[in-house]
Amino acid sequence: PIARAGAGLAQPPRVSFEFSPPKTEEAEVALWEAIRRLAPLNPAFVSVTYGAGGSTRDRTHRTVSRILAETQLAPAAHLTCVDASRAEVDDVIRDYWDAGVRHIVALRGDPPGQIGGVYVPRPDGYVNATELTAGIRAIGPFEVSVSLYPQTHPESGSVDHDIDVLKAKIDAGATRAITQFFYDTDGFLRFMDRVRKAGVTIPISPGIMPVSNFKGLKRMAGPVGIPLPGWLGALFEGLDKDPETRRMIAAGVAAEMCVKLAEEGYSDFHFYTLNRADLVYAICRILGLRETAE
Ligand code: FAD
Repeated sequence: PIARAGAGLAQPPRVSFEFSPPKTEEAEVALWEAIRRLAPLNPAFVSVTYGAGGSTRDRTHRTVSRILAETQLAPAAHLTCVDASRAEVDDVIRDYWDAGVRHIVALRGDPPGQIGGVYVPRPDGYVNATELTAGIRAIGPFEVSVSLYPQTHPESGSVDHDIDVLKAKIDAGATRAITQFFYDTDGFLRFMDRVRKAGVTIPISPGIMPVSNFKGLKRMAGPVGIPLPGWLGALFEGLDKDPETRRMIAAGVAAEMCVKLAEEGYSDFHFYTLNRADLVYAICRILGLRETAE
């Protein structure tokens, strides 16, 4: 169905898109504009985030249900287990199964105000995403995606520990990993060498966050321990009042990263869309994706 690959790639990659449940009617309209623009690019799945502690439980469910009802897309519902009992989380999983959802992104989540801080699990809850993955698979044969941190998670002891955790999640039933976003492509490739050498064979989608607002990105990346390279900041210097150029640079940077990763054999990309289509749409076009006939 896809006409041809772009950027000199032998074939276009498979893509997935991440959205957040909207808080207002206005935001819902904007989200659906983005979904409708990106849907014809035929993503492998689209995921919808979930507020830690269940703060978006109903909104996530509504968004996922609307995707199922109004599009041909395969939704993946994010689910966190922090600040909830196993029984509450299991209810959400069963509701998804009953609604026809077959893919869950299983995460622990950050307790409010505790990003990077000490995490205290609830005694009656799932302790981490490994336990949550096992809980999900006990309820139904879902596809389960889990997180992976190329630059390690703030709570992580080491890359080796993170790889052991990933393997434990796979043993618990995880079928795919999606990475935290990153901008150091060479560092990502070295990290992935270690993951693959450890015997991990499940598909791993690099998480791509196109950035046109560097100051906003800094606020987002700092607390979750993602280092931003100096060269990236330098690209945006003096462009605070020039959003159009910032968007062009953002698309160029992300497309270049994806092309390099595709040349290294990566064929699945997960885009953090921030509920906007424009950058991701342009990057996908550069990578050779084309609209399929609806
Ligand atoms: P886990 O993988 O459970 O790890 C947490 C801690 O537990 C780590 O220290 C780890 O070492 C330890 N651990 C886990 N399993 C084991 C094991 N088997 N043995 C020993 N130790 C173990 N947050 C949200 O609130 N909502 C979202 O929708 C959301 N979506 C995300 C999507 C992606 C792709 C990513 C990368 C992150 C997302 N997050 C989301 C953020 C995430 O919730 C936080 O980063 C959180 O701090 C960690 O969650 P996790 O699932 O990675 O944790």
